[in-house]
Amino acid sequence: MNAAGSLRGRLAICPGSFDPVTLGHLDIIRRAAKMFDQVIVAVLVNPGKNPSFTVEERMDMLRRSVDGIGNVTVECFDGLLADYTRQKGAQVIVRGLRAVTDFEYEFQMALANRKMNGNIDTVFLTTSAEYMYLSSSMVKSIACFGGDISDFVPACICREISERLCLPAYRRQPDDVSK
Ligand code: ADP
Repeated sequence: MNAAGSLRGRLAICPGSFDPVTLGHLDIIRRAAKMFDQVIVAVLVNPGKNPSFTVEERMDMLRRSVDGIGNVTVECFDGLLADYTRQKGAQVIVRGLRAVTDFEYEFQMALANRKMNGNIDTVFLTTSAEYMYLSSSMVKSIACFGGDISDFVPACICREISERLCLPAYRRQPDDVSK
């Protein structure tokens, strides 16, 4: 807490892969933006994860999705999140929790980050019920078979994701209404 004992005046980091950003992510980002004065959505550059979208693509999709939320900016980082938060002077890491299965890993990461940067706290926001099942990998699985992902990702990036991920055999022709 700051001198006023509130969350105001604090810089929060929402880290993640965002490969690609979903409505579940956006819900967490919007809610964080209401709680904290400044929010940085930080895309993890993780060569080990073999992402479907490049860091630049993920940042671009995020930027278009958060357009209009005045106190949110999008960046990327590599290396340790603890180092990045220190470099930014952030006090809070925001993570979303979907299920109990998320908890053990997130709890471990929160403790490790606090050990490495004593000035950082992790705040967990519970998913909104309608997004509980939603993940980037689920979106990708549906999109590659030509499924409709419009209920799962921001409207402004929906077409781009579908066109990019849909396998050739599942591409719909403009006049094909049978599928
Ligand atoms: P990571 O690989 O770091 O978990 P993700 O892009 O999968 O990155 O997720 C980033 C953050 O968004 C995580 O805190 C994750 O729990 C949260 N998140 C992802 N999907 C949802 C959802 N449907 N509801 C709430 N939080 C979510």
